[in-house]
Amino acid sequence: MGKVHNYIGWREAERWKCTRCGKCCEKYIVPLKFSEALTLTRKYGPVALNVNGKYYLTKKADGSCIFLNRKGPIAYCSIYLERPICCKLYPFHITRRPLKVGNPKSAELKWRGENIYLYVDSTCPGTGSGYPIRSLASKIIQLWGRYKSIP
Ligand code: SF4
Ligand code: SF4
Repeated sequence: MGKVHNYIGWREAERWKCTRCGKCCEKYIVPLKFSEALTLTRKYGPVALNVNGKYYLTKKADGSCIFLNRKGPIAYCSIYLERPICCKLYPFHITRRPLKVGNPKSAELKWRGENIYLYVDSTCPGTGSGYPIRSLASKIIQLWGRYKSIP
C-alpha cells in the first residue's frame, strides 16, 4: 500500500465521514509535537520515537500504530480522546498557498478575510460521502491552528 497522500480540493470531495477502516492508522507514520510526545510517554511509557529531534508514534511489528485495536473490521483508537492532533486532522490538509495539484479554486476557502486552501486525501475511504465538508471546515481550521501553534 502506498504511503503518499493524494490530495484533492474539498469542493471536489464535497463530503467526508470516517468509516473506521483504520487504514490511516496502519499506513502512516504519525508525527508528534514535543508536548504530545511528552504527555503520551509519561502516561503510556515509551510510545514515542525520537528521530533526529523529531517525534513519532511507535508502531507494532505489523506496521500499524501502537494504539490501533480492531473488533472485526472496525478500527478503534485506544487513546481516541487523547489522540495526536495530526490524527484528528487526517484526512484534511490546510495550506496558505495552493498545492500543485488540480484547480486551486477547488480547494479555496475564505477564512477571516483571506484565502486558505483545504485539501482532502482521496485515498481515505471516507472521502466523498458523509458530512458536507463545508460544515466541518471551521473545526478543521481550529485543529490546524492548534497543530501549528503547539511547541
Ligand atoms: S482512512 Fe479515513 S475512513 Fe479509514 S479510519 Fe482513517 S480517516 Fe477513517
Ligand atoms: S493514535 Fe489512534 S488515531 Fe492516531 S494513528 Fe494511532 S490508532 Fe490511529
